Amino acid sequence: MGKCKDITRLLSDALDRALSTGEWVAIQLHLPTCSGCRNYRKQIRLLRVAAQVASGVAAVDGAGNGDD
Ligand SMILES: [Zn+2]
Repeated sequence: MGKCKDITRLLSDALDRALSTGEWVAIQLHLPTCSGCRNYRKQIRLLRVAAQVASGVAAVDGAGNGDD
């Protein structure tokens, strides 16, 4: 079972590297149970989009997937 500290680290790592299947499973099992980690994921997504916009990269993918 994922702990918040591990899950948030994995969510952050996912921006920089490919996660293993086991890591994704841990995330997918944990997120539905934890609003804190869902909010964290939302925030790092926004940060990434903002960084892409700032660097001139089009950032239309990933925004507005609809899952909360
Ligand atoms: Zn959590």
